[in-house]
Amino acid sequence: MENKYDNEFVRKQLYDLYGKSKGVSYHEFTDELNQMVKNLYQDSIKHDNFKKEYYKKHKLCPKCQAIEHSTTLMSYTLNLKNPQEYKDLNSCVCTKCKHIHTTHDRISI
Ligand SMILES: [Zn+2]
Repeated sequence: MENKYDNEFVRKQLYDLYGKSKGVSYHEFTDELNQMVKNLYQDSIKHDNFKKEYYKKHKLCPKCQAIEHSTTLMSYTLNLKNPQEYKDLNSCVCTKCKHIHTTHDRISI
């Protein structure tokens, strides 16, 4: 898959954030930029894979096992150093039995 972080826009942003304060030129910062865009890409894959697994484990209503539900759409931050602490605490209402619970309370298939 293509690394969507490997482009001039992201590189310039990273240089402005981390390179300038070190007093190095954009050119001198190239090796570090290469590593940074690679790390961003690897983290985004870990992030996507974790979320995929997480939502498989939290898919069904804990009361009646229905999939269909409505939910609030807050975004919760995933810390890749501590993924086990991730909790999606959006409020869900089961379409079938009207049970109210959080996404984290939902159960695996
Ligand atoms: Zn239900």
